[in-house]
Amino acid sequence: MVEQLDELYREVILGHFKHSAHSGELPEAQIHANGENPLCGDQVTFHLKLGNGRIDRVRFQGKGCAISQAASSMFAAALEGKTTAQARQLIEAMKALMQGTEPDDAIDLGDLEALSGVRKFPVRVKCAALSWNVVEQGLAGYQISKSSTNTISDIVVGAKNGRD
Ligand code: ZN
Repeated sequence: MVEQLDELYREVILGHFKHSAHSGELPEAQIHANGENPLCGDQVTFHLKLGNGRIDRVRFQGKGCAISQAASSMFAAALEGKTTAQARQLIEAMKALMQGTEPDDAIDLGDLEALSGVRKFPVRVKCAALSWNVVEQGLAGYQISKSSTNTISDIVVGAKNGRD
């Protein structure tokens, strides 16, 4: 499917797939969220380290198709340095982009822009969306834990499908 994308998009996507600056573990992260896309066999785990109200560092681990892993890499890069509110805006912008709505100019998508070509392939949208769906769950779980206790403990969010 990557072959069918525009040349520019294909290069950006394959670049992230072959080498991601954000792949790996992050033991000091407070949020660990994972999920899978059974339709394609994609799996991804995101590790987010928060500090001073911002997402300090992001790493991900996963396996699956080029779209799912490249999307995770781009999304990880875009998340770093954002506040959790900005991260939610970015997630909404990516959902809108996949539905064919051009996102607000104020939101810098960075390399994620390359995924706009994916919306022509509805099955592949699920591959791309895995990354932000996983992070959305992770952030939601973190928010709940923060409001229910005074101490912030590690959050582990698993896939709905039950397989870990
Ligand atoms: Zn996939």
